[in-house]
Amino acid sequence: MRAAGRPGPSVGAVAAPAIEVTGLTKSYGPIEAVRGIDLEVATGEVFALLGPNGAGKTTTVEILEGHRHRTGGDATVLGYDPGRGELAYRQRIGIVLQETGVERFLTVAEVIDQFRSYYPHPRPRDEVIEVVGLTEKRDERVGHLSGGQQRRLDVAVGLAGDPDLLFLDEPTTGFDPNARRGAWEMVRNLKSLGKTVFLTTHYMDEAEALADRVAVIAGGVIVAEGTAESLADRQHMRTRVSFDTPGGTTPPVEAARVDGHWLIETDTPTRTLADLTSWAVGAGIELDGLHVAPPTLEDVYLALTGQPSGQPTAGETESPAGRRSRRRGRARR
Ligand code: ATP
Repeated sequence: MRAAGRPGPSVGAVAAPAIEVTGLTKSYGPIEAVRGIDLEVATGEVFALLGPNGAGKTTTVEILEGHRHRTGGDATVLGYDPGRGELAYRQRIGIVLQETGVERFLTVAEVIDQFRSYYPHPRPRDEVIEVVGLTEKRDERVGHLSGGQQRRLDVAVGLAGDPDLLFLDEPTTGFDPNARRGAWEMVRNLKSLGKTVFLTTHYMDEAEALADRVAVIAGGVIVAEGTAESLADRQHMRTRVSFDTPGGTTPPVEAARVDGHWLIETDTPTRTLADLTSWAVGAGIELDGLHVAPPTLEDVYLALTGQPSGQPTAGETESPAGRRSRRRGRARR
């Protein structure tokens, strides 16, 4: 749905990419935070940028949002150069930071109305509230909302101007499992509205569940980009089959003992399972704990960055608290 009076692609036209970045660089004095990255995000796509602390995610996102100047390279977002800081550009994007300051004594509906008033073509208030699943809390004061509900309100604030592109920074940090599922549903709602979503997250399962494509950044360069499955293929990640046998009986297929269980890593899981289960059935053996695990994005991420998500890269100097306050400070600019 497009607000009246807004320019948009003509029917039948192939939509231009929402984001195009080539050779992007950013240095802070001697620190080369972003060292020449290329990115393309299609219109209507959910795209996740992943990487360890200090990898250059925030710097990249802030350049795309128009909050930070690049040192070199080109960036076009929704047809605009974000570095020019044009009002027309800012009115077409929504930004959801890790913490947004909204007045705690206002109700949900009042907050949305307040933010809607800043835009020429805002989205109808009740639609915004519904997309984020806060309809029942519409008249509740912000100060009475749970943490997860306040986070939903942050997203609603980002949607108030009916942006074409939403930047979502760590949307589920601190959520319980139910709240996370709710937030995922919300992102899917955004996609079904045709919004482009640029997501940063440290949760690999979240990126896997939501993103059409992901890019992994490490040390200021993109080290992999594609769908989660294509990244797993390119990294030659294998499916893991684990099981137990009575008394530890050795299976006839090549398997290793790992942590007291049998483990097979295979490129041909169907064949492997057929061989394994035929042997077990023939021998009258039950394979306790039989588990088949295709490679996850987390596995790919570990292979690419050499560390669990959330760990700093070599050369990282700033504390997480410092980074958080920098992001909050930026929100006030
Ligand atoms: P995180 O996941 O921790 O938020 P990030 O991937 O977003 O990390 P950036 O915040 O972009 O990483 O930082 C990339 C590098 O640039 C880091 O080494 C960081 O210390 C440095 N850096 C970022 N902002 C500044 C700044 N304003 N001044 C100096 N150095 C900076």
